[in-house]
Amino acid sequence: MNANLEVVPMQEWIQTDGKPLIIAGPCSAETEEQVLETARRIKAEGYAHIMRAGVWKPRTRPGSFEGMGEPALKWLVEAKKETGLPLAIEVATPEHIELALKYGVDVLWIGARTTVNPFNVQDLADALKGVDVPVLVKNPVNPDLALWVGAFERLQGSGIKKLGAIHRGFSNAQETKYRNSPMWAMAVELKRLFPQMPIIGDPSHMAGKRALLMELSQRILDLNYDGMIIETHRDPDAAWSDASQQVTPEKLGEMLRELEVRKASYGADFSDELAALREKIDNIDRELLEVLTARMSVVEKLGEYKRDNNVAVLQLDRWKQLHGDRANQAKGLGLYPEFVEELFKLIHLESIRKQTEVMNSATA
Ligand code: PEP
Ligand code: MN
Repeated sequence: MNANLEVVPMQEWIQTDGKPLIIAGPCSAETEEQVLETARRIKAEGYAHIMRAGVWKPRTRPGSFEGMGEPALKWLVEAKKETGLPLAIEVATPEHIELALKYGVDVLWIGARTTVNPFNVQDLADALKGVDVPVLVKNPVNPDLALWVGAFERLQGSGIKKLGAIHRGFSNAQETKYRNSPMWAMAVELKRLFPQMPIIGDPSHMAGKRALLMELSQRILDLNYDGMIIETHRDPDAAWSDASQQVTPEKLGEMLRELEVRKASYGADFSDELAALREKIDNIDRELLEVLTARMSVVEKLGEYKRDNNVAVLQLDRWKQLHGDRANQAKGLGLYPEFVEELFKLIHLESIRKQTEVMNSATA
């Protein structure tokens, strides 16, 4: 990919004393009390450089809490006055930008559901022409690096140079351990293309549940990211959005103190490459299992057909033909034929077991 971006170093717009940048705050601003109490408790812990909160919430389905809008901005301004913490919020429309700037929000971010849409991103870029504000761009929901890069280019086209990336993981086609698969290799590739681009990890939205926050945060630091954005709420279980991934400001403090900050340079480490390759294998294996599942559901239909027509499960001719056939295909693909033959023996055995099970079940 050919792209050139002029990025102002993060240290020029936020002081962190050489430590990773910490952006902390609730998923959403809910009430004045919730914003102020959360802000005070974050401030008392002393780890945060910026306070985050969602003012407008992009929700997957209508009818859920969609953010408090402009009143929330007033509470955040109040929190900033009290704590001195600069503010970061998500903007998704030109109107959001206008209001954010009106209330003096310090840092804007573009959410994952917005980054996917170039029309939307262009509208935001147009609204930011001539404005000097740091803009962080979350990775798009789908693992498409060009979309992420495209968003930076559109912002740069409007003169925005205080840029940063937020890596929040990518949507999964099927159930996995994480709410959003990190796919670390995508962030490593972004860093390779734009070594000057600050990268901030978002373990909260990767995890989806608080039990996974620690391991993800450590991973983020191991990869030498420039910082983290983490959700914290005065009463996590009662949060109006993303309750299961939030922790109290004190719990977050405990977590952050336990993490080890490493000094290795980004992506240079052998283990990063190893992790990226392993993640590729994990994804391919998931796909393999999905393909196997699809095969087994056809096998089940075959079993039903044989049962209803009184045909024996094991057809020897078919068995021989299948094995010869697959071994030949394997040769053509550069796979070791004996391996493929063994593999299909196993698959076929499982198919026979499945069909026998179907045979013995009652006719529908
Ligand atoms: C958020 O940060 O609360 C949010 C909505 O995140 P994302 O855009 O990553 O889903
Ligand atoms: Mn959230």
